[in-house]
Amino acid sequence: MTEIIKVNPFDIDLKKINIAAEKIKLGGLVVFPTETVYGLGANALNETAVKKIYAAKGRPSDNPLIMHLDRIEKIKDYTYIDDNIFEKIKVLTPGPITFVLKKKEIVPEIITANRDTVAIRVPAHPIAQKLIEMSGVPIAAPSANLSGRPSPTIAEHVIEDMFGRVDVIIDGGNVDFGLESTVIDLTEDIPTLLRPGPIIPEKLKEVFGYIKIPDFIYGKGKVDIAKAPGMKYRHYAPDKKTILVEYSKKRIEKIKEKINNYKNPLLVLFEEDKKYFREYDIITSGNKNDYYKIAVKLFAILRNADKTKNDVIIIEGVKDEGLGISIMNRLRKASSEIWR
Ligand code: AMP
Ligand code: MG
Repeated sequence: MTEIIKVNPFDIDLKKINIAAEKIKLGGLVVFPTETVYGLGANALNETAVKKIYAAKGRPSDNPLIMHLDRIEKIKDYTYIDDNIFEKIKVLTPGPITFVLKKKEIVPEIITANRDTVAIRVPAHPIAQKLIEMSGVPIAAPSANLSGRPSPTIAEHVIEDMFGRVDVIIDGGNVDFGLESTVIDLTEDIPTLLRPGPIIPEKLKEVFGYIKIPDFIYGKGKVDIAKAPGMKYRHYAPDKKTILVEYSKKRIEKIKEKINNYKNPLLVLFEEDKKYFREYDIITSGNKNDYYKIAVKLFAILRNADKTKNDVIIIEGVKDEGLGISIMNRLRKASSEIWR
């Protein structure tokens, strides 16, 4: 059965982390908080243990996992990385960013879905760091949600999806960002963004110089499955029909024009726009320019929207700029229809 362990991230009880670390060593599954979303972890070097992750999530096995390390120096044990790149990634770690690099032999193919590359992250969250350190092995971990559902950003959501499917759930309170890590491919001459996240393109350009941002990041064009395997899947999606309204000056008119075609809609609106829709059920996402607040609540909003008695979710999108790019990337995947 699943053991739930509450840990205060500001005053970590090492005895509690040790219970979880022992489970990892024995090939078990442990859910733990990170600064992005909650992760579902297993010993990355134990193939049988990693297989349990795919089973618990119902995740397709051609969608690779991220390998988490407690210290960036260890990246050299698992990847071929030149000194110049190493110096650059040091600037961004620990933190909410994942680097795709050429893997060494020791990295099992189950993590990489048979690729010759591996995705590596050093989380900044103190509980995640302690758990990895005390386990003594790298921890493979995707987000701790059932495959396809919004990622969990509070322990309650983890329990909804994972209770009975894992050995331990560490409840470490709220996450800092609420969006999965930025994923950047460093295996070619030009670094390529594979998944936008908390580390925004402006910051990446500062560190790496020129970077490529493929069209699929913005929901356009085709995903290069060989490079960004995870992006081909439906993701983050509520069970209800979800409609995304792209940001524009005309967004209010657009919603008013089409909303009558739907019975019993739930509107997810900016604080500023609520006044135009007094007669409808509304969840507020935040102020329209406060991307950090919207991001950190986004997946909780999608889960909550799914639990209401409404039949359809209509959600306002933000501008494709800065962290807004990452929010829109998730919303475009979460929705089955887009109003432009
Ligand atoms: P999640 O663990 O749910 O945050 O998803 C991890 C994501 O990291 C996957 O969906 C992939 O998009 C990406 N990823 C993991 N390993 C690789 C890799 N070797 N090459 C490219 N992308 C990867
Ligand atoms: Mg995920």
